Amino acid sequence: MKEYEISACVKVFTQEELDSADAELIEAAKQATETSYSPYSHFQVGAALRMESGEIIIGSNQENASYPVACCAERTALFWAGANRKDEVVKAIAIAAKSKGEFTSGVTGPCGICRQALIEVEHRQKRPIRLLLYSRDGIHVTSSVGCIVPFSFYSENMM
Ligand SMILES: [Zn+2]
Repeated sequence: MKEYEISACVKVFTQEELDSADAELIEAAKQATETSYSPYSHFQVGAALRMESGEIIIGSNQENASYPVACCAERTALFWAGANRKDEVVKAIAIAAKSKGEFTSGVTGPCGICRQALIEVEHRQKRPIRLLLYSRDGIHVTSSVGCIVPFSFYSENMM
């Protein structure tokens, strides 16, 4: 038998420790929670992408009475970018979430479906997507989405 560990390097910053670009991206994710349509979960999520051009693209969760129809904030932003900024590199994504009107504490990471969507973009563009997770306790940052998606599934796995 062999055994190995998988680990991820996560840095936790205070708001004051962020550089101005990251602070702006976090603020955009926080603001994006305001456009959430979440009458069922009352869980407002905002995502903000930093594109290579410097542009920020936001997304928020969009729910539906038929629950599976809903789309998470991360994919709302990512798919908008894919449709409108084709082949442009996504450098970073910031995510913020509110529960009962308050930003969450602790780490609120992307769901499994969004991780899969993000890892495919990262893999396709051959450039890491930095991940910034806002919480009241600090901003948790990884240098790549791949850090939180071990054993990632790619199209090459089907060959
Ligand atoms: Zn999701």
